[in-house]
Parts: sequence; structure tokens; C-alpha cells
Amino acid sequence: MSFCLCLPLKSFRSQKAEYLKVSESKSAEKKATMTQKGENPSFVLEKQGKVSYEDRPIPEFKSPYDVLVKPRWTGICGSDVHYWVHGRIGPFVVESPMVLGHESAGIVTKIGDKVTSLKVGDEVAMEPGVPCRRCVRCKEGKYNLCADMAFAATPPYDGTLARYYSLPEDYCYKLPKGMSMEEGALIEPTAVAVHITRQAAIKPGDSVVVFGAGPVGLLCCAVAKAYGAKKIVTVDINEERVQFALKYAATTSFISQRVSAEENGANLIKDADLGLGADVIIDATGAEPCIQTAIHALRLGGTYVQGGMGKPDITFPIMTMCTKELNIKGSFRYGAGDYQTAVDLVAGGRISVKELITGKVSFDDAESAFTDVKAGKGIKILIEGPKDDAPSRGHLKRKSESLT
Ligand SMILES: [Zn+2]
Ligand SMILES: [Zn+2]
Repeated sequence: MSFCLCLPLKSFRSQKAEYLKVSESKSAEKKATMTQKGENPSFVLEKQGKVSYEDRPIPEFKSPYDVLVKPRWTGICGSDVHYWVHGRIGPFVVESPMVLGHESAGIVTKIGDKVTSLKVGDEVAMEPGVPCRRCVRCKEGKYNLCADMAFAATPPYDGTLARYYSLPEDYCYKLPKGMSMEEGALIEPTAVAVHITRQAAIKPGDSVVVFGAGPVGLLCCAVAKAYGAKKIVTVDINEERVQFALKYAATTSFISQRVSAEENGANLIKDADLGLGADVIIDATGAEPCIQTAIHALRLGGTYVQGGMGKPDITFPIMTMCTKELNIKGSFRYGAGDYQTAVDLVAGGRISVKELITGKVSFDDAESAFTDVKAGKGIKILIEGPKDDAPSRGHLKRKSESLT
């Protein structure tokens, strides 16, 4: 895995084995205990496999355009769990304790002197990565490719699973009337799907295949549908997820077989009635057999977008790519306009995210949400922000170093 963000869960099957190993080795360890007291209770990854609660200082404004937000709901994604289990994602290594979480919506509690678009009490979806705004990539509008990005819960930057989190006003998106904060927390993975779909340039009438029916794969199906794709094929090895995808947004499904990628691709075209092949294929798994199958299932001149992250290197059908003259693209987080598009798609009812929420836990039980995601349970689990007045029921470490 080279980079990460909202990586969709890769191959559920292969991960499960890994999960079992990890849970066995960690089962003897004491569960993190929590208190709600303190200035800024935070859920912290101390080091690989070890989480705890700490009282951190309330973040200070770095600019007069910053606002202070109290995250109310935070979704847990594969990257949070990956840091917990492995202590690193590619070059990003957890070297000092880091607050987890980056998929949040919350309430504005304080605003900087120059803030004009928000007021105290506003409910906002929080875009969790702030670029430098000065480099060439930032200036050309591709700020997700900024080399100086400060992204929540990517070392060394702290995440949003705390009472307070500070970010610039233009990285907060006011929730339209009628949108709950639970839905607001789902804007982050929706923005990932919006970006992937934008990379794929989906047009009305297109046939789209999405490998992986985890949160990001499901949302890619939903965005493709909203953009007018005629046929949306969900592919997964987990029958339960496939059934969910069919109810949610996909029009047809395909279960991969243990045959060669070429044969699998041909079967996919035939079973899903894709004619000369799919117009667009999105991989939201990162699994090698999926990627290979996708290349074989595309039509001549079709488009492939890599959204999932698995092994850093794989065997790739490059001859097929060349002779089919495929457009192959990567996709990383989200860029200009993606977050707002995600808000608008949900607000306008063109995408529904409520049914993706399969569990909610209190801040005290944050670790259980990680355990469940690790075990592949449910689709999206949300953690509630710390309550203001709940009684203490554990130890709280004082932490004096400032937030980064
Ligand atoms: Zn995420
Ligand atoms: Zn930059």
C-alpha cells in the first residue's frame, strides 16, 4: 500500500485471516478506558495495536480564517483501522501518539476574526485535509495532490475523534436543512466516490462495473447512478454485500470465479450482458485478481479507475491495456468541488447514505467500532463525539504537547 485515505476494505476474504491473527494476539491486552472529563478528550492511537484516551489541549487557531468544531459523528474507515493494526500505511508511519478519525460532521463552536461564511452553532461536514494552497498542484486546482497536505489521522497530523477539532472555514460545508449530522459524517466517503467517478468521466448511458461492495464501492455505484449510468454492475466475493449493493444502487451483479482473469472478464461481459465490454470499470478493492479481470472486461477505448489500495505491486495485463487503448487513471482522496458535490447529491436526494450506517457507538466504546470494522462487520460504523457532561469512568492521561 503506497498511500491511503478512505481506502475501501480490500479483499474481505484475505483480510479476515489477517484480522483473526491480530485479534488473537491482541485479545490479552487491556481495553482502553475512557473518561469524558477534561478539556479535549481524544481517542488516540499510541502505537501499533494500542489505543487509549488522552486529554489534549484545545487546538488553537493557526489563522483568523479557522473555526473550532465539535465533531458529533465520525465514521471509521479502512485507513483508520489499518493504522491501528499495522501502525503505518506505506510511507506514513505512526511515530508518536496520533488522534484517529477523519470522517466527521460537527457543530461550529468558535470562529476566527475573519470568518464570514459560518457562525457558532452551524452544523458542518468537515473536509479533513488542508493543502498548502501555494504549490503548483494547489494552484492548478488539484489540491488533493499537494505534497504538503495536512490530513487528519495521517501521521503526524491528529484526527477528529476528539471533543474539538480546528480547520479553515472553507473546509467546512454547512449541512443543508434536513441533513442529519450522521449523514454529514458520510459526506467524506461520498466525496471519495465523487472523485473516483469524476476521474472515470461517467456519462449518461454508460455501463459501469464496480469491483468491491464496501462503503466506497457502494457509493461509486450510487454516484454512477446519479450521473445517469445505464448499467451498474457490482462485483464482490461476499454474497451479502452483493445483495446489499443490488438493493442500494447496482442494477446487476457478478460473483468472481476462481478462474483466470481473462476467463473471469469474459464471463463478466457475458453474465452482465455488457456487449463489447464495459465503458467504465472502477476498482474499489485493490485486489490483484479484480484489477486483472477489470482490464479484460473493458471495451476497446474504455476507462479504468483505481480507487482501492491493496498490494503496492501486482502483475498487470499491460498488453491488453495497450491494444485496447484504455484510459487508466488513479484516484486519491478528493479535490476541488468534490466535497460540495457530495453534499449536494445527498441533499438533493440523488444519493442516499442513511442505509450505509449499520452501527453507532458512543465515544467510550470507540475501540469496539474499530474491532467491528476490522472484522468486516457492517458497512459504516459511526462513533459519537465525547459528551460534555458525562461522568468519568476511567483514567485520563494529561498531555501537554500541542496539537499539530
Ligand atoms: Zn476515510
Ligand atoms: Zn500545495
